[in-house]
Amino acid sequence: MKRLSIKIRLTLLYSFFMLLATGAALAILFSLSSREILASTQAQLEQRVQESVEEIRIRDGQIRPDSDFYSVTRDVYLSIYDENMYFLYGRIPHGFTAQPEISDGEMRRIRDGNQEWYVYDISFRLSDDRNVYVRGITSVTDAEESFSVTVRFALILFPALALATGIIGYRFTRRTLLPVKQITGTVQKIRADADLSRRIGLDPGRGKNRDEIYSLAETFDGMLSELEEVFRREKQFTSDVSHELRTPVSVILAQCGACLEDKTLTEEQRSQILLIQRKAKEMSEMISHLLFLSRADQGRQPLNREWVDVSELTGMIAEEQQILADEKQNGVRIRCRIQEGITASVDETFYIRMLINLISNAVYYSGQDSTVIVSLESDGEWLTGSVADNGIGISAEDLPHIWERFYRADTSRSSSSHSGLGLSMVKWIAEAHGGWVKAESAPGEGSVFTFGMPVTGSNRAQEPCEQKNEKNEIL
Ligand code: ADP
Repeated sequence: MKRLSIKIRLTLLYSFFMLLATGAALAILFSLSSREILASTQAQLEQRVQESVEEIRIRDGQIRPDSDFYSVTRDVYLSIYDENMYFLYGRIPHGFTAQPEISDGEMRRIRDGNQEWYVYDISFRLSDDRNVYVRGITSVTDAEESFSVTVRFALILFPALALATGIIGYRFTRRTLLPVKQITGTVQKIRADADLSRRIGLDPGRGKNRDEIYSLAETFDGMLSELEEVFRREKQFTSDVSHELRTPVSVILAQCGACLEDKTLTEEQRSQILLIQRKAKEMSEMISHLLFLSRADQGRQPLNREWVDVSELTGMIAEEQQILADEKQNGVRIRCRIQEGITASVDETFYIRMLINLISNAVYYSGQDSTVIVSLESDGEWLTGSVADNGIGISAEDLPHIWERFYRADTSRSSSSHSGLGLSMVKWIAEAHGGWVKAESAPGEGSVFTFGMPVTGSNRAQEPCEQKNEKNEIL
C-alpha cells in the first residue's frame, strides 16, 4: 500500500488531536453547565418561594395574596394550600397534573407525562395563627431545553470545525514543508544532470525563518560546495597527472623507436623493446582518453561543428577498422548498411572517435569469424546509427554500468589495453551533440549499441541513455 505523504499524515494527526481536545473540552463544559443550570433553577425556585410569603396578607379574616403572587416571576408558579392541603389560591403551570403530597422544605423532581418539574413547599404561619403551605413549581424540561439548544448547535458546528481544522492544518503543513519539496527538487536535478554547481538557496525571509528546514538546506548547500570543490580538485588532478605523464611516455616511445633502429640487437632484446613500446603505446592511449574526459568535465572540450557527409565518413571508418581486424586474423567481417548522402553538423574528430570506440569494441568482443554490422540512417531531423555484433554480450548486471569510467564488465576477457574509458567517451560525445546512446545486449548472443544525434546540431533535450536486457526491458 502506498504510504501517505508526511503532509497528509501531519494533517490527520493535527486534526485528530485538535478534535479530541475540542471534544473533551466541550464534553466537560456541557456537563458542568448542565449541573450549574439545574442548581441555579433549584436556587431560584427556593428563593422565589421564600420571598413569596411577603406577598400574602390577611384582610377581613381572609387570605389575600397581592397581585405579584400571581405573576410568574423567574418561571416559578406559586400556589397556597391550607392545613388540610386544599388548594386555596395561586397558579399551577399548564401540563402539571400531578398532585404530590406537601413535603415541607424538600426540593423534589417530579415526572409528569413528558415533562419534569421541580416542586418546593414551605409551611408558613399567618398573622392570625393559621398555618398554610406555599408551593413553588418550575419546569426542569424548559431549563434543560435552553441548554440542549446550545448542545445541538455545538454538534452542528463540530463537523464544520473538523473540516476547517483539516483545511487549515493541511495548508499550514504544506506551507511548512514547501522548502522540503524545493530541497528534493534540487537534489533530483543534481542527480539527473550531475551538476554539482546547483544550490538549494532557500530564502530565509529576511532572516526571520531560520528554522530547522532552513538549517538543513544550508547544511546541504555547504556539503554540495565541499563536494563540488573535491570533484573539481579530483578533475584537476587527473588532468594534471595525464598532462605530466604525456612527456615521459613520448620519450619512452621515441627511445624505443631509436633502440629498434640498432641492428646489433639480439632477438630477445628486440622483443623486449617491442613489449615496452606496445605497453607505452597503450599508456599513451589511456592518457589521451583521460585527458579527453577531464577536459570534457571541466567544460574545456568545445565541439567544432561542421557539415560532414557522415555516410561517407562512417563507411571510411568501417573500412579502416576492417583492415585493423584483418591484421588480427580472427576472420571478423564488418558489414555496412549505410543510407547514402546523410550530411550532419557534427564535430568530425569526435564522431570518428565515437565510431572507432564502438566498432573496435564490437570487433574485440566478437568471436572468431563473426560479423559486425554498422548501420546509419536519417529521417532528415535525426541521424541514427548502430553497431551490432554477435559476440560475447553483456550481462544484465553489468549493462547499466558499462558507461562508467574504468568499468570493465569481465576483466578476465579484456586485455590491459582495454581500460574501460571508451564507452564513457562515446556517451559524452553523443550527448555533447545533443543526442543519446543506448545499449541492448544478451550474454552469448551479442550486443547492439545505438546512437542518435540531431542532424542540424540544434541543442535538443537529450533522450536518456538507456540499456535493455535480453528480455528487451529497459534497465
Ligand atoms: P574497454 O576499453 O574495456 O572496452 P569500454 O568503456 O569501451 O572499455 O567498455 C566497457 C565495458 O563494456 C567493456 O569492458 C566490456 O566489458 C563491455 N563492452 C563494451 N562493448 C562491448 C561489446 N561490443 N560486446 C561485449 N561487451 C562490450
